[in-house]
Amino acid sequence: MTDTPAPPLDPCASPATADALLRASPLPPLEARILLTHVLGWRRTQLITRGDEPLEAANVERYRALEARRVAGEPVAQLVGAREFFGLEFEVTPHVLIPRPETELLVETALAALENRPRPRVLDLGTGTGAIAVALASTRPDALVWALDRSADALAVAARNGARLLDARRPGGAVTFLQSDWYDSLDAAVRFDAIVSNPPYIASGDPHLLEGDLRFEPRGALTDEADGLSAIRAIIAGAPARLAAGGVLWIEHGYDQAEALRALLSAGGFAQVRSQRDLAGIERISGGVLSSGTSNGRA
Ligand code: GLN
Repeated sequence: MTDTPAPPLDPCASPATADALLRASPLPPLEARILLTHVLGWRRTQLITRGDEPLEAANVERYRALEARRVAGEPVAQLVGAREFFGLEFEVTPHVLIPRPETELLVETALAALENRPRPRVLDLGTGTGAIAVALASTRPDALVWALDRSADALAVAARNGARLLDARRPGGAVTFLQSDWYDSLDAAVRFDAIVSNPPYIASGDPHLLEGDLRFEPRGALTDEADGLSAIRAIIAGAPARLAAGGVLWIEHGYDQAEALRALLSAGGFAQVRSQRDLAGIERISGGVLSSGTSNGRA
């Protein structure tokens, strides 16, 4: 916000322009620009080049409605129905967690682990928007990717994102979207080279659930309704039976959970257990390699 007072926006006096709407907005400038370009179908630079153009009344009304919803707390990504992740534009609805930039670390780490494996099999548990699975599939066209979620509404969003963002002729084929409570509905015979997940890891009583965007995101994508580690325990416990020899498991977690994750991974039969920090310097993901001595059902 600027400290010069906003000019009055009387629609009868002079037609509203992008300049005037942005100047009068109570929102952080970036958010106001995202909402306005969404309404107008403009690129960000056109807010400058066409800033003094009179706008259609219907567009002004649509913008004002979105602005009011944002002021009331609704996430920008839900208002515009999209969020960029790993260079791809994902559809977002209230049924899915909004992709976060720190989750790109999970994608990059999985990609590094798969570097020398041709046609790797990858499993994303609790896929939500499909952001992790689709980003991996997009970067590794040869990968065979499974994306699971227990929410049918989330899977529908993920499947649309996969269909829109992936090349239908990619050698790895289409991503397999499957409704499943963690591993439950998965074909028991398939062995994966990498399992990745951004599970609900917020403890049920955490006050963050009542703040910001989280208030509008699906609760089941955020909290396990327990201590924050129950989904993570289930994922780690089921992973050895699903991983191929030398397969990796990487899980995103909360800022204070890295030590617990490393202990669970070590106890669960994983070797080379480590955590990685996100751009904010927070230990954000932990993972390991299935150690050769661990039974993975292949005897
Ligand atoms: N990273 C999210 C947040 O704390 C939580 C996502 C999750 O629970 N997987 O805002």
